[in-house]
Amino acid sequence: MKTPNGYEVIQLFEQFAPKHLAMEDDKIGLQIGTLNKPIRRIMITLDVLEHVVDEAIEQNIDLIIAHHPPIFRPLKHIVTDQPYGRMIEKCIKHNIAIYAAHTNLDIAKGGVNDWLAEALQLQNVDVLVPTYEEPLKKLVVYVPRTHADAVRKAIGDAGAGHIGNYSHCTFNSEGIGTFRPEEGANPFIGQQGTLETVEEVRIETVVPARLQRKVVQAMLQAHPYEEVAYDIYPLENKGTTYGLGRIGTLSEEMTLQQFAEHVKLALRVPAVRVVGELTSRVRKVAVIGGDGNKYIHQAKMSGADVYVTGDLYYHVAHDALMLGLNVVDPGHHVEKVMKEGVANVLKTMFTQQKFDVDIYVSQAHTEPFTFI
Ligand SMILES: [Zn+2]
Repeated sequence: MKTPNGYEVIQLFEQFAPKHLAMEDDKIGLQIGTLNKPIRRIMITLDVLEHVVDEAIEQNIDLIIAHHPPIFRPLKHIVTDQPYGRMIEKCIKHNIAIYAAHTNLDIAKGGVNDWLAEALQLQNVDVLVPTYEEPLKKLVVYVPRTHADAVRKAIGDAGAGHIGNYSHCTFNSEGIGTFRPEEGANPFIGQQGTLETVEEVRIETVVPARLQRKVVQAMLQAHPYEEVAYDIYPLENKGTTYGLGRIGTLSEEMTLQQFAEHVKLALRVPAVRVVGELTSRVRKVAVIGGDGNKYIHQAKMSGADVYVTGDLYYHVAHDALMLGLNVVDPGHHVEKVMKEGVANVLKTMFTQQKFDVDIYVSQAHTEPFTFI
């Protein structure tokens, strides 16, 4: 077991919620403090408020991972006799770093919106608003027949050849390779100055762009040649689709009223606001954590019977009525599911890496509303 530094922790976390998934102009990443220090204790929180920082100080926290970025609009000043400035001052004085994972955590596979869809017990879950399609590459490599199995296994294990629910997909054709080792070469087969012919296999497979380096390294390691002949082509087809919100179906149809009760229980909120006829039947559900006002048309277009999102505006509620789209608004605070969600992801990653880090889930109350 080792104590990692902040960079190691964040590098690992960003494999789960990469920054490039975030919406444009979102304020994510390290916001306060430094990652250049050992991390022994991390706190996960939805919001960063002054009493949340007090909790972190009490808990001896080195790093706070927050969903809502504490610095969102440009700062005009840091005045330390006002709550906001005091909050920043406390972080700096107590050497607490704050890292924000916002829309990248919403969009990530297995992130906030998947946790919400899971809590609502949705099935056949898909992305609601696509924001990013992963670029793909084609890798072609020529391997002597004796080593074709080893190379296929190495690139497949590194993540190449993933198509739908199939892994290690390749296409193989046999042919003759020729080469003449020049002076200074240290050939696996043949001798300097003599033209060689070898039975080779052309292995081709698809590689997500983000795994290209890892796959090529694995391929080079498994390949016997000193100089490996391989090509990488960009592809027009796209890989995994990422996006905001999720859409899925309930295991059985229910009335809007029953569904509203289900949302209250599933997302642990004392009340919800409902738009639509309470007796209407719902089965297909769209969900976006936080403020999903902008996406009511996508929710309608996707065929949802009901849309679950927070911070619903009065006029957007009117638009939904006119569209014939039911809405259930459980409030923005339901994104609190991210606390346990991120804690679980990090626990698994730290165990694998043998990182000795405590993970503490903030207990501070940050729901600004009281339901009476
Ligand atoms: Zn939010």
